[in-house]
Amino acid sequence: MFTPTNNSTPDLLTNARLPGWLLPKDWPSKLDQPELADIRVTLGCIASITPCTGSVDTAGNPANLGVNIWDLAGALILPALVDAHTHLDKTFTLPRLGAVKPGLLGAIAAMMQDRSGWTTNDVRQRAEQALTWAYRAGVSHMRTHCDWWEPDGAPIAWNVLEDLAHAWSGRLPLERVSLMPLHLFVDRNMASKLAANIAASGPGVRLGGFVHTSNWNPAALRHLFEAAAQYGLDIDLHMDEELNPAACGLATTAALIKEIGFAGHVVCGHNCALSAQEELQALATLDAVAQTNITLITLPLTNLLLQDALTDRTPRQRGITLIKEARVRGIRVLLASDNVQDPFCHVGSYDPLEAFAAGVLAGQLDKPFDTWSESLCRGDWLRSGPAALPLQIGGKADMLIFKEASGWSFPSRTHDRIVLRGGTALQLPIL
Ligand SMILES: [Zn+2]
Repeated sequence: MFTPTNNSTPDLLTNARLPGWLLPKDWPSKLDQPELADIRVTLGCIASITPCTGSVDTAGNPANLGVNIWDLAGALILPALVDAHTHLDKTFTLPRLGAVKPGLLGAIAAMMQDRSGWTTNDVRQRAEQALTWAYRAGVSHMRTHCDWWEPDGAPIAWNVLEDLAHAWSGRLPLERVSLMPLHLFVDRNMASKLAANIAASGPGVRLGGFVHTSNWNPAALRHLFEAAAQYGLDIDLHMDEELNPAACGLATTAALIKEIGFAGHVVCGHNCALSAQEELQALATLDAVAQTNITLITLPLTNLLLQDALTDRTPRQRGITLIKEARVRGIRVLLASDNVQDPFCHVGSYDPLEAFAAGVLAGQLDKPFDTWSESLCRGDWLRSGPAALPLQIGGKADMLIFKEASGWSFPSRTHDRIVLRGGTALQLPIL
């Protein structure tokens, strides 16, 4: 097992096990597993990644004199994590809420009541706790939604999260999405006003909305897209978070993007309804999504807890969307934490691997490390532009070392990890 030296800034990581998705196609493999790698780090950036030759750590090798080598002995490495969908405004409110009715709409009702008492200090304290946990877990890019019901002005939490995004920018870049009910976009002028307000409220913002059969309005969705285009905003929607097969938000969005030629980037989170629809209908929707720049996000923890939820009844459906079918079509799929310790989800820790573990089981995902861990690491899938793999030559050496995990059982035993930021260990374990 890998035991790090006391020097927290290694020049060379040898015998490192990287995930298959990150390696070039001609990378050697043995027994269907990629060969181990040597990763050289210079001035906090990746200098090279090459197949391990087995000779770098030979005692007395003059080529390695003065080089701080960590022999990982096959320990797993992932690039720094992305948590693409969270709710820092709502987090950690659960202990003060009392009984909450099961299901999504019950959680929304409980949250609305609590929200009326929010103060700047309350939101800041809870959100900072979340950022701290995420940073320690190895997250290097986070996106949070923020409830926004006000037709005029901005909610308290939006401004608090802006302050926090500024304060944390050097450690953990934070993007904000306005989570607005669709009815706010029924009036075209109001939609435009809201988008202008969002666009003026700082960098890293997205126009968001809650699209559900309980508030379905295709004209409002169109206005949301038109307003985003007017102000050059990307979009991030809570989409079809339900098991009603009649939910058609995702299909409508895919058609709308094509029809109006929307040029911005679009994220659709949840998409649970696909799992309740007739197979042919759901697959036709995914075919349409594959022709757009939509990135899908799946949120297994909340879906498992909120979908098909009734008191004293075991759920029959899991709510996870059709992520295997999406990937086969080349659709970008991310996996994220969503709600943490609030009425929507009482568990969670801002370690994206916790949600990932739930997703592996709920979605029966094959090769979680070599294939699906990509869904935790692709920050470039949250924006337009060319693909940009992490951990490339010249890029920052931001990565996680899972010294007790294996490629066969991942993500089991990943709790114990070393986080390297710019090539330096955040915190070495006490030896
Ligand atoms: Zn959410």
